[in-house]
Amino acid sequence: MKNYRIAVLKGDGIGPEIVNEAIKVLNVTAEKCGFTVEYDEALLGGCAIDATGVPLPDETIAKCKAADSTLLGAVGGPKWDSMPGNLRPEKGLLGIRAALGLFANLRPARIFEPLRDASPLRADIIGGSLDIMVVRELTGGIYFGERGRLEENGVKAAYDTEKYSVPEIERIARIAFDLAMKRGKKVCSVDKANVLESSRLWRETVTEIAKDYPEVELSYMYVDNCAMQLVRNPSQFDVILTSNIFGDILSDEASMISGSIGMLASASLGETGAGLYEPIHGSAPDIAGQNISNPLATILSVAMMLKYSLGQPEASDMIEKAVAEVLNEVRTPDIYVEGFRKVSCSEMGDAVCERIKLY
Ligand code: NAD
Repeated sequence: MKNYRIAVLKGDGIGPEIVNEAIKVLNVTAEKCGFTVEYDEALLGGCAIDATGVPLPDETIAKCKAADSTLLGAVGGPKWDSMPGNLRPEKGLLGIRAALGLFANLRPARIFEPLRDASPLRADIIGGSLDIMVVRELTGGIYFGERGRLEENGVKAAYDTEKYSVPEIERIARIAFDLAMKRGKKVCSVDKANVLESSRLWRETVTEIAKDYPEVELSYMYVDNCAMQLVRNPSQFDVILTSNIFGDILSDEASMISGSIGMLASASLGETGAGLYEPIHGSAPDIAGQNISNPLATILSVAMMLKYSLGQPEASDMIEKAVAEVLNEVRTPDIYVEGFRKVSCSEMGDAVCERIKLY
């Protein structure tokens, strides 16, 4: 029987409670699908600072590197807000992404039918179904390029540099095309090639990589048009492939179409394919410890892990189906509307597990 080793970083605030529910769901799914999972817990963020004095202990890096994949809750909270910059929980987050060489950020934006009304977009704009994956380059471009300040003729100025190499573009493009092969077989590469030289190289390189994926339909779009199309006709997209800065903005825009922060999963992938999976929300200190948070973003992060790192697409589909179905009956307070049964975080986890047991 296939066995997977998952590094688990519960983190702070609601992190432990949402991760516990995701583990519960993964265990039930594993039993149903005929594989086993072992968990290796490690510290990250505020809890790591409290226990070891640093937000990212070496032992955590070692455990994540040894694992088939890593599941993360969330880090941070007011307790650590006054710590110096290098001792902040967020430093641990950036550190683990760097240590694992994660260069691709995957953010799905999809509508679960029962939550259609939660979307800020009108139902007729959303159309029949919506399932977009934004693939953002994470370790290059203007956020990492040369920057500085200068003075020209007594006038202060500043600059930041957008720079991409062919290998950097190639590896992120391959991630996008591989994903498209597991989804709707469409990639839209988003750039600003009418103005930026780096975008022209991006487009040339993506065009070359596309030749290895004859089944995938490649299109190009300028970033300004893409920002508009996402709210005008979002269902035209399958995989959106883009740079660090454009992806930063577009992934936030796309994910909000789903309407609830407690539902949004994400993944970061590197060369090894092991990946780090986490909800996009933070540690929600305002509701921590009350068992009222929504664990579905973390549960859906596990579904992504099964599909994109562990090669268990059926198990992944099973979780997504169960989540869609339970939303017809139960709701955590953040997505509650009249007519449904209001449940706690752990009851939502139980509801998903019970549904999976029925399949
Ligand atoms: P947040 O995402 O934690 O919370 C924003 C709002 O959404 C809050 O009202 C919260 O209660 C609600 N919310 C978030 N997740 C929820 C869930 N699963 N169920 C129900 N409600 C949910 O953002 P914030 O308040 O800006 O940040 C809180 C802390 O989290 C800060 O310390 C911040 O640095 C940290 N943070 C961590 C990550 C991460 O670990 N990846 C990401 C963002 C923020």
